[in-house]
Amino acid sequence: MKPVSLSKTESYDLPQMLEAVRRHLDLLDFRIDPGSKVVVKPNLIMRCRPDRTATTNPVVVEAVIRSIQAMGVSDITIADSPGGLYTPQVLAANYEQTGMKAVAERCGVALNLSCGSRTVRYEEGRLCRAFDLIDPIAGADVVINLCKLKTHCMTTLSCGIKNLFGCIPGLLKPQLHYRFPDGRQFAQMLVDLSLLVRPSLTLVDAVDAMEGDGPTGGSRRHIGLTAAAVGDGLYALDLMMAHLIGLGPGQVPMLADAVERGLCPACWEQVKLTGDPDALSCAVTDFVMPASKTLDFTGNVPRPLAGLIRRLEPRLAPRPQVRGKDCVGCGRCAESCPAKTIVLENRRAKIDLSSCIHCFCCHEMCPVKAIDIKTTRIFRFLSKS
Ligand code: SF4
Ligand code: SF4
Repeated sequence: MKPVSLSKTESYDLPQMLEAVRRHLDLLDFRIDPGSKVVVKPNLIMRCRPDRTATTNPVVVEAVIRSIQAMGVSDITIADSPGGLYTPQVLAANYEQTGMKAVAERCGVALNLSCGSRTVRYEEGRLCRAFDLIDPIAGADVVINLCKLKTHCMTTLSCGIKNLFGCIPGLLKPQLHYRFPDGRQFAQMLVDLSLLVRPSLTLVDAVDAMEGDGPTGGSRRHIGLTAAAVGDGLYALDLMMAHLIGLGPGQVPMLADAVERGLCPACWEQVKLTGDPDALSCAVTDFVMPASKTLDFTGNVPRPLAGLIRRLEPRLAPRPQVRGKDCVGCGRCAESCPAKTIVLENRRAKIDLSSCIHCFCCHEMCPVKAIDIKTTRIFRFLSKS
């Protein structure tokens, strides 16, 4: 099993980050052939400043790029397909706000502005045998996965596996949500995708993580850590990061699937660690989970009531709710809704919940956070019992 490297990294100070990244790469014996075409794939989910903690911090991206340039690599492109439309204008605005443009200028690397994609077959996929991938990812020799540690309203955790969803172009992402509305199937699809993309290195920005209603609506939580793994160490890395914020594989559908496929151990104690021996002290016991966190209601109620609760689950499940007074009528929620169940009326978003598949893409994409996740009293009761 490939090791996971942990390093206490207290701040986004560039010299400190360079030292942490170089140590990870040395410990993992990570090397790149200098002639390789390398794509660095941060999490750029939406156009926002780094201090929102929704995106990979530019200092992490810069430290990784400088470290691989030191190996003699020169063909490096920063690329991601954020949520919403995938156009050169959207990408340019995103790069500017997230700090990627400045990183690219300082390091002399390219920013992907071409918005093509191609279908890549993956015959071994359990659920998906083909994916549309953005061109830079489909054409890369080496993919470097630079994710942010966050909660996620649908998948509970956003880390290395989930970050690769950004290899799918723009509005094809909501289509996959619609094709796989069931959380377990969606997770299987993500694991298939990760096996197709096969990042050579995954490095997690957990200096400041996001807790609460991630991946865009939560709050900053300082953890003071970076972590990395090469190749298929990705799964053990996600398992380890989940553990550090109080989650086990049973609570993260992608990890449950990875364990079931034998891609990672069933418990974090079996992960081979390297790096800072005291990095485990960064573990947080009160990390705030999303309001929508997936629950198995049937395990929390007396057995005779389990069937009834299962039938009622769709009605009990958390749902999106627009705060009309805060909605600015931009339409991004409607654009991203896979079920096409949002309309704009008098420049206010309106959701028809009867067709909602509870993916929370709308919540994720709202730039002014005007969509709340509403839970019922009985949901809250069951989630505590
Ligand atoms: S309304 Fe929101 S949560 Fe429901 S299907 Fe549309 S995007 Fe998903
Ligand atoms: S709810 Fe948010 S994303 Fe939807 S139209 Fe209003 S401001 Fe835009």
